[in-house]
Amino acid sequence: MARATTCIFNGKLISVAKAISIKETAPVRERKFLGFECLECGMPVNPHRAGGNAAAHFEHFDRNPNCKLSDPAR
Ligand SMILES: [Zn+2]
Repeated sequence: MARATTCIFNGKLISVAKAISIKETAPVRERKFLGFECLECGMPVNPHRAGGNAAAHFEHFDRNPNCKLSDPAR
């Protein structure tokens, strides 16, 4: 399963590591949606740190079955 490790932010391609650092330095009230967009479908995505077996990646706020970068149901 493809997992997104880049996204669009302010019209530019950025890495998940960069997105996490942007998220962590943002004021808490602005963290819910900072404007990260899926490369494939343009829907809002949220950066997740690496954990367990998963590398750092982006997840869609709302799963998009038409997007190949969207996670399957967990
Ligand atoms: Zn997408």
